[in-house]
Amino acid sequence: MVRWVFGALQNKTTKKVVLMVSAQAGKTQTLMVFCAWAICEAPGPMFWVAASEEACDEFTKARLLPLLENIPDVAKRMPTVRAEKTLNLIQFSTMPLYFRGANSPSKLKSTPVRWLVCDEASDWPPDALGKVQKRVRSYRQSKTVVISTPKDAGEEMHAQWERGTQTFFHFACPSCGHRQPFRFGREKSVLFPEPREQGGFLWDTNDETRPSGKWNWTELRKTVRYQCEKCAAEFRQAEQFKLLQTLARFDRNPTPEPNTESFAWNAIYSLWVKWDDIACEFIAAKEQAENGNLEALKSFVRETLGEPWLMMGDAANADDIMKLCGKYQRGEFWPVTETDKRKMTRILTVDVQKDHLKFLVCQLRAGGEMRLVDYGRVSNFADLRGLQERHGVANRGVFIDSADGNRQTEILRECVRWAWIAMRGSAQESFAHPTASGRVISRPYRVKSVDPFIGTEKANTRGVTRVEWSNGVYKDRLYLYALKGKGPLFEIPADAGPDLVAELQDERREPEKNARGSTVWKWRDSGNNHWGDCALMAFVAMDVSAFSRGADSTLDKKAD
Ligand SMILES: [Zn+2]
Repeated sequence: MVRWVFGALQNKTTKKVVLMVSAQAGKTQTLMVFCAWAICEAPGPMFWVAASEEACDEFTKARLLPLLENIPDVAKRMPTVRAEKTLNLIQFSTMPLYFRGANSPSKLKSTPVRWLVCDEASDWPPDALGKVQKRVRSYRQSKTVVISTPKDAGEEMHAQWERGTQTFFHFACPSCGHRQPFRFGREKSVLFPEPREQGGFLWDTNDETRPSGKWNWTELRKTVRYQCEKCAAEFRQAEQFKLLQTLARFDRNPTPEPNTESFAWNAIYSLWVKWDDIACEFIAAKEQAENGNLEALKSFVRETLGEPWLMMGDAANADDIMKLCGKYQRGEFWPVTETDKRKMTRILTVDVQKDHLKFLVCQLRAGGEMRLVDYGRVSNFADLRGLQERHGVANRGVFIDSADGNRQTEILRECVRWAWIAMRGSAQESFAHPTASGRVISRPYRVKSVDPFIGTEKANTRGVTRVEWSNGVYKDRLYLYALKGKGPLFEIPADAGPDLVAELQDERREPEKNARGSTVWKWRDSGNNHWGDCALMAFVAMDVSAFSRGADSTLDKKAD
């Protein structure tokens, strides 16, 4: 593959090369060879732009430069004077290499460049990729290289890839000769929009690999293999090298933007990645998804498959929702039995309107299960308090949307009064959580403390716990997943009315062309989605309070 990428880089007519690749797909090696070649054979001022200057330091200086120093032809062109090797610039004897952060575009103008490297462009601030490419003044035969692991379908990096040649690498099946890309599964995805009957990774599920319902990973690994999509012949990784030698480039886009070549490949191609690791990562991620946590699957798709993430499918319709009806009536909680020792709790989630409040009463059970017990509306906070007491919901089980601009102060003060929890939806996808071990993990929500009395004499007296959560992540999970009967049990009462069912169908995901012509998927509603919003908050509450499997409670620790 590197051969074709270099062909593109050396091709005089190609102006832009876009590489959308998995995280372990030899990015460092590709860039190292490219840099060495540019320094020795095609010198010219180079701008290396990463998400931030720190990201430049982290990848380029810590990982790339030490490798370059081991290449004798590059080493002899390294500067010997310290002044020529600064934070922002390395002056090789043949060319300057500048380092810049995409977050400070003003520093990009200074000089015309021959090479512009856009590193991990999916991590850049929104719109930065287009801006950076515009700002850089061109040089005779200048070229832009964009290299990144993708994030979401429709983002700028993915859009630039789509406008290029969309080149895949196909191997030839040794049994039938059919040429095909290495593709993990059979279901449709962003890069493979057609489902297929056979082909991709296989493994055995039997008494040895999965005794009594639990994976025996060692046995499972032994059964991992790849299947030809045409003749169903199976290959082990021992044959990978042989298969890779048959690779040929295949351009999917019949009408690419002039002078733009784009390439995609995933970890299955890599000689450094074990196929059984890929299969195990998927199986583990899939199990987490079945438990309601989609984050591991998302990172598998983006980082291992090198594909942009888009949850497939349409939002649940009335038929899907009616299938969720359990054998109980509105107002009935799960019975407490001697045999079922699973932990349960009751919550109330509330959407605040101009002159009334809409609510859901839900019950959560360990393992991520949820029963929608009742729904309705009350006219004010006093009635809400009465409702809370009637249903035996604890104060820390009441979650109120505080995003309403007009009533925000009032909502926060009610939260102070009753120790309720304020909720706020966010456009952000994830939030960083430092862990006890010092590692930072990301979650689709964050728990903070806010002061509703700020600016008054009562400031700093009492705080409110506020949970910020990702609108996009939880909408995908509710409308494309839970309401379609996927994941842990989610049930609604047998006598749920058409009013509830209508509000749970008000959100639709629609493709939308953004200013640059790429398709992004947006959730749209017609303003009748209040119980839907309450249901979103119930799922957030489940994650925050650790009723979903695998989560740990951040609320309990920060609450008091
Ligand atoms: Zn075949």
